[in-house]
Parts: sequence; structure tokens; C-alpha cells
Amino acid sequence: MFEQIYPKFKEIFKRRWVKVFLAFIVVLMALNIVFPPKVNVTYSTLVTDKKGEILHAFLSTDEKWRMFVELKEITPTLRKAILAKEDKYFNYHFGVNPVAIFRAAFNNITEKRRTSGASTITMQVVRMLKPDKRTYLNKIFEILRAIQLETVYSKDEIFQMYLNLVPYGSNIEGIKSASYLYFQKSPDRLSLAEVVTLAIIPNRPTSLRLGTKNPLIVEERNKWLKRFQKAKVFDNQSINDALLEPLTVFRHEAPKDAPHLSLRLKKQFANEAIIHSSVSKATQTKVEQMVANYVNRTRAMNINNAAVLVINNETMQVEAYIGSAGFNDKLDGGQVDGVQAIRSPGSALKPLLYATAFDKGIITPKNIINDVPTNFNGFEPENFDKKFNGKVSVEFALANSLNIPAVKVVKDVGKTTLIEQLKKAYFQTVKKQEKDLGLSIVLGGCGVTLEEMTQLYAAFANDGNWQKCSLLNVMSLDDKRTGLSWVNKCLKNMQIWNKPPRQNSTSSEFRYPSLKKGEEFSVSANPLQMRGEQLISQSATYLITEILAQIKRPDLPNNFDYTYRLPKIAWKTGTSFGRRDAWSIGYNKKYTVGVWVGNFSGEGVPELSGAEIATPLLFQIFNTIDYNTSSEWFRQPKDVVSRQVCAESGDLPSEYCSNKILDYSIKNNSHTRKCTHLKKFYVNLSESMSYCMQCLPEDGYKEKLYSNLAPELISFYELKHVLYEKIPTHNPNCTRFFKTANNAPIITNPNNGSEYYLNTNDAQQLQLACQTANDVKEVYWYINDRLLQKTLANQPVFFRPSLGKLKISCTDDKGRSSSISVMIKGE
Ligand SMILES: [Zn+2]
Ligand SMILES: [Zn+2]
Repeated sequence: MFEQIYPKFKEIFKRRWVKVFLAFIVVLMALNIVFPPKVNVTYSTLVTDKKGEILHAFLSTDEKWRMFVELKEITPTLRKAILAKEDKYFNYHFGVNPVAIFRAAFNNITEKRRTSGASTITMQVVRMLKPDKRTYLNKIFEILRAIQLETVYSKDEIFQMYLNLVPYGSNIEGIKSASYLYFQKSPDRLSLAEVVTLAIIPNRPTSLRLGTKNPLIVEERNKWLKRFQKAKVFDNQSINDALLEPLTVFRHEAPKDAPHLSLRLKKQFANEAIIHSSVSKATQTKVEQMVANYVNRTRAMNINNAAVLVINNETMQVEAYIGSAGFNDKLDGGQVDGVQAIRSPGSALKPLLYATAFDKGIITPKNIINDVPTNFNGFEPENFDKKFNGKVSVEFALANSLNIPAVKVVKDVGKTTLIEQLKKAYFQTVKKQEKDLGLSIVLGGCGVTLEEMTQLYAAFANDGNWQKCSLLNVMSLDDKRTGLSWVNKCLKNMQIWNKPPRQNSTSSEFRYPSLKKGEEFSVSANPLQMRGEQLISQSATYLITEILAQIKRPDLPNNFDYTYRLPKIAWKTGTSFGRRDAWSIGYNKKYTVGVWVGNFSGEGVPELSGAEIATPLLFQIFNTIDYNTSSEWFRQPKDVVSRQVCAESGDLPSEYCSNKILDYSIKNNSHTRKCTHLKKFYVNLSESMSYCMQCLPEDGYKEKLYSNLAPELISFYELKHVLYEKIPTHNPNCTRFFKTANNAPIITNPNNGSEYYLNTNDAQQLQLACQTANDVKEVYWYINDRLLQKTLANQPVFFRPSLGKLKISCTDDKGRSSSISVMIKGE
């Protein structure tokens, strides 16, 4: 068999044309290796909204409008019209059309003029990729390159390249750019007449310039439409309709919406031609307009900027991103991106603090905290209104944003715990400032961004589960060509990529070529971004939401029009020190909206407050974007249970507590402290003297309950002249020595461990002050263990200290004692 075939093969290979053909193939292969086809095109970066509509277009690096057309935008009509006009045999040839070449060559020789009729679409692509002088030699190279291109790329890809590169005059290249800049729509929405218009211009981009030569273009267009009719490329009805279509277009500006977001994404994905953002164009435009109008009104108060972030809680995608009140407002730094700017949060971190305290079981909503002047080792916070409220409940303290209770809770929870929580929630500046942060962190003594804050509140809307928000529409990855639809499941929780997944990619979707099914992929530096983090329990989140959704609260704007529809949302305001930042962040089941209002210059304004300035805008936005949604609200988790507590303390009632109220608690988690708000004492019948078991007389005494007030509250009552029932003096004949560490005086001035500078020429004095238990009448002050003075409790003492280290002690009339030490330095 083989012997029979082999000679025949030999015979064939002896033929000359076979040899030439084989040589040709070898040469081509060699050329492919030595001179690989260079497709080095830079595109205009396009940022689209979540539906794919262009929000913002940037010029390419070579200053062209060259927008990348996606395969799905190339409709059959577009394809048919262009091929019918440019290259009827495109689908059949191998880059060149020999018949056409011979005909053109013949024409060139006989008629002494050059025609481009011989150029196939592939050859035109070659020429557009590398424009050369039109010589015969270059023509030959062009043919070789065209054949080469066909061996490397599919017909679809070559046609796509053609559409991306065809010139439309000026700096407009590609059918998509022309389609957007003249017709203001994507190529797949063009009518037949529009398609033919765009098909005829590239041959004569200067003489047929859209906008200026429209009548001439219509004439030319109709000529081609009639040719198509003759050749039966399209049906008669379509042609007749197209013939009648007027042409009134002119050149428009490229879209420039969502500028802050677009710039940010362009920087992040520098090599992507199309970036599918998560923003909804409709929401973006509406909110943008609202912010601009709002700031137009606040300008009268010298409040010149605002930023808003809208997050869809379900997808954690950003639906609106407004970096400033006006990008082009150069006077007030409109180009600053207020979503990413580092500002002080004021009180807006308090919900996280209280939620953490609920989770630690330290407090429940009805627990009582003393809102009285307190010195935290030198730090003496004040409330926003500079007033003190005495005993308040936790929920009142949070809803009214009281500062002293909040700092007390930070102290109980632990500053480090709160910082850890903020780090878990990806607060980047807090992470950097960690070592310098004090208790004031919860009053705004740290740096945050609107993005971090809104993300945090979105965790409240998601049962305490924190996830980074996404600026990209990850669903656009669901593309058959990637073969990675399963990726979507993993991607649902996936967030902003730190790096573009594929360098030099011009395609719209991100591809992960090395990914295998089930493989965890490292698209972000932070694995948290993939999974989300249970920041606080669902139960604690529910308790916070209940408090933040209360309507009766002081941070409703004063001039709030109650006929205006109040959306059902949970929200918290914040005003930073010096009234530089006004915050209002709210959420319902569907959206979390973060609003910041202030000046990028950092200038404070007396009128600026979260309640008065940021909240009205927050309500407006909710009313607009979430107007008619169902009133579905958060459900009470099964671990949140009701229990009876003493109204005086919020702790579990003791036998003496009569005023009982209902409070929420978290099952197996909340504290089970017994209330001690009343304490039983033995007193004489006139209630002027008290006894202990040791000095109790045999008759003539009774039992009486007295309020067990904390020393700080007694000091406050004394200061404010609030009446309270004092425990009668202890029997003076009693021999018992009361020495328990409990309820010893608290030295409130000076501060333990502090240094004091004394002017040596002056008669400067140091003040001694303490807080004592309810049963104390007098205290004894000691300096370096030597008695200085006996005085009434709660009455300050002044003395002139000596230089050096001082031990200051205070002993009450029950023998309970405490000491501090300070350093006195002279100047
Ligand atoms: Zn009680
Ligand atoms: Zn006694």
C-alpha cells in the first residue's frame, strides 16, 4: 500500500506550484515569528453604569475618542451594511481578495489611477494599525500582514478591530465613538439609516463631516441605500423607511457623569477600555442634582460642599457616588473627592460602640448611666449643648448623642476593643493612628472617610455582617465567553479589586485564565473583602437599629416640616469638633445612605451640625430613591428577649425595687446584675442617726431604705442643688472601724500621675477635690501622709504645694481612703 502511495506523493512534491506553495507557507510562518502582528491600540476609558450605559468617557492616551466596541454591540444590521459596502467576500477570503487585486491592478495600469477597491476589511485594519505611504511595496507588505492577521485572529475579532479604528474625522475614531458623539447612543441602538450613515463616512471623513455636511451625507446615504435595495441586502420596507429618515445630528460632548467615581476607577483600572461600575445612572443623576441644589442653599451660611454615598445593602454595590457638590466648582475644591476625604466623624461612631457593649453583655438599652461632669484622667468631655442630664438610660444617651456616657462606655468596653472593631470594619486611618488614639475616639478624635462610615452602617443593615462595598458591577462578569459563570457566586461578595486582573486587557470583562473551579482566588489583598465579617451580632444590631429608628429625638432638624414624608429609617448624626463636619448616615433594609456636609477647606461654621444640616439632605435622598418601597423592617432575632428590670438602674430588680420596666436583653449574653439602687440602713426613730450591726441599740431603731448614689452623682446633685435623701450620720459612739475599699473617696483633682507647673513668683495654689459616698459627711486631706485639712465632703480645698513628688490622700469619716501622686515643677 505504502509503496504505491509514496511515489505518487513524490510525484506531487516534484510539481513546481506545490513547492512554491510550501515555501510560501514556511515564509509566512517565519514572518509570523519574526514580525508578529502588532495590535497596539489604546482606547478611551469608558466608565459605564450598571446597565452598561456610558457614564463617563476619557480621551485615549493619544488624545483620541476611540471607544472600544463590544461584540454584543455589533448588530446583524451593522455587520451586513458595512460588509455589503466594504467587503462582500469578507467571510470567505483569507485576508486578500485575489480577484479584486487583479482587477484593481488592471485598472491602475490601464486608467493610470489608483483605486482602493481592492482593499479588504483585513487590509484596511492593517493600514489603520500602521499607516504607511501608499506605495506598491507597502501594498505588498499590507497584503502579507493581512494574511498574517487572518491566521492569528478570528473574523469576528478582525471585524471588531475595523469598527474600532475607522476614522470619522477630527479626533473621532471607531464606530462607537461616532455613535455616541453624534447619535448619543450605543451602536446596537442605531437605525438602518444611521448605520449606513456611519458606514459611508470613513472613506471621506473630511468632506462628509457629520453636523456640518448633513444634506450631502443624506444624498450619499440614500445612494447607498438604493444600491442595497437593488442588491437585496435589506428588505424593501426597511430601506424605504431609512430613505425618509432625516439627519439632524451634530457633535455632542462626551459624557462626563459621576466624575469622582470615574476618575477613581480609571486610576485603579488604568488598562481597561470599559469599566462596568455599579452605579445606577438614574439614581446618580437624581442624587447629584439634589446635592447641588442643597448646597446652593447652604452657601448663604458659608457651607460650600457635600458628599453622598448610596449603597444597596443587598448587593453591597454603590448605586450613587457624589464626591462633591460640583466637580467644576474650582473655588470650593469641587474636584476633591469627599467620599474618600479623611474627616472627623463627630459622634457618628457611637452606634458601633454601644453595639459592641451590648455584645459584651456590659449594658442593655435601659441601663442607667450618670451623665455628670467626669474627669477621665485629665480628659473632661462635655456634651454638645454643654449641659449634663444626670441619670440617663443607654438608649437615651445614644439617641441624644451624649458624650460623657459614651466615653464611660468606651472605658468599660476598652479602647483597644473599639479600635479592633474599627480595624475589622476596614477603617484605614484609624489603623494608622492606632497608637495615638484616646478615649475621645468615640467623640470624633480619629480620621474616617464617608466611604468607611457608610460601609459601617451598611453592616447594621445587614444584621451586623460587614462587607466592603463594591464600585463595580461584578455581574457583568457573567459572560459566556469567559466560561466562568461560576465565578459569579464567589464574586457576589467580592469587592473592589486592588489590581487590574489582567494587564493590557482591552476587553470589557475581567478574565482569570489561571482559575480552576473551586480555587480560591487572590484578587484582593484583604481576604475579608471576599467573605465579609460578623462585626456585631444580629441581636446587638437589632437593639441599635431600634434605638436609631426612634422618631422622638433631638437630632431631627428643628425646622423639619412634619407634613413632609418621613422615611422609616434608622439614622445617626455627627458633628465634629469646631463644627467642621456634619454627618447623617441612615439605613433601611434596602439602602444605606451616607451624607457629609462641610467645607473642604476645613473651615468651621456655627450653623453646621449633623441634625440641622446633614439630616434634611439624608431624608430628601431617602424619599427620592426609596419612595414607594414596601415598609419591610428588621425582624426581632430570636435571641433578643424581653425582661423586667428596675427602672432606676436597668439591672435585674432586687427585693427593694418597685418600679419595674421592660427591657431587651440578649439571651445567654447580657449581664444579670442585681440592682443595688437602694440600700437598707438601721436608723433611729427620728432618722437622724444610723447604726451598724455592732452599735445597734436594743430598741428605738427602725429599718429604712436609702438611695445608693454614686459619689459622682452626689457631687453633681450638690453642684446643681438637687435634693436627695442623705443617709444619717453614723452613731458617734460606734467603735467599728470602717475600712473597705468600696466607696472610698475618688480624688477628681489633681489628676493622678500628672505634672503641674507652678509659677514660683506667684501665690498659685492647687485645688483638691473629691467625690464621696452618700454616707460621708467629712473628709481628711493628707499631703505626703501629713494631715493638711479636715473639710466637708464635696468642698474643694486649696493649698500651695512644695516642688517635687507629692502623695495626696483623702480619707472619709468612715475611714475609707484613696491616694494619688503628682509631680510639681517650678518654672
Ligand atoms: Zn432597683
Ligand atoms: Zn456602728
